[in-house]
Amino acid sequence: MAEFLTATDTSAAIERVIREAKKELTLISAYVYPRFIYLERLRDAAARGVQITLVFGKRKMDNRVKSQFEQVSGLRIHFLDELHAKCYCNEKHAVVTSLNLLNSSEARNREMGVLLDAQNDAKAYADCMAEVQSILQASNLVYSSRTLGERPSVRTNSTFPKAGFCIRCGKNEQCDPDAPLCMDDFKVWVRHEDPQFPEHYCHTCGQRAQVCMAKPMCAGCMELYRPAIDALNASRKIVRSFGRRTWRE
Ligand SMILES: [Zn+2]
Ligand SMILES: [Zn+2]
Repeated sequence: MAEFLTATDTSAAIERVIREAKKELTLISAYVYPRFIYLERLRDAAARGVQITLVFGKRKMDNRVKSQFEQVSGLRIHFLDELHAKCYCNEKHAVVTSLNLLNSSEARNREMGVLLDAQNDAKAYADCMAEVQSILQASNLVYSSRTLGERPSVRTNSTFPKAGFCIRCGKNEQCDPDAPLCMDDFKVWVRHEDPQFPEHYCHTCGQRAQVCMAKPMCAGCMELYRPAIDALNASRKIVRSFGRRTWRE
């Protein structure tokens, strides 16, 4: 069940979302001037190999704040002028709140928030993730720690994430590289069954990418999930899919 959060609760929930992120962490805040503790947690998350995306808006980022963020590896910063939403999410939880990522907000202002659980509040969480993707696509990438020449630590995953994205419309759906289209788009695809037909979104990270049924993931994800892909290919030789046409058949 969604949980109601006061200002202090929200602050604690955000810290927990950062601390518990395994692969991806998205911080959306119209204004940013993060508390020191958040920055430390962000650095820890980056050290665990978490890809962190920060979206802010309204006005230029303070240079001191920018230089603090530059100490966090594996970070991408997006800017969206029209941003007023605040949302902090990882693979399991999303905090939707009025609280900005400012060190003063919590002390001065009355804030409220809601904590969504990916399992128990599946619909609301999925809708929230879809909106997060929409915000990311509308925004501009203004900084990536890769541009500083830091190579993100190369990690590989032997399992796919639970949530994926339709490679044609970008909508949230279950992750299944054998069936990377949502049902509506799949019904259209089967008319031609062209495994090379160009699609628009990476199935696992949801970022815009040149993908197709035969290759539903972006280059970065192909590298990241190499062991999972190998395992899937190996099992495919033995187990047939459940009547659902896949690109491997
Ligand atoms: Zn779709
Ligand atoms: Zn990807």
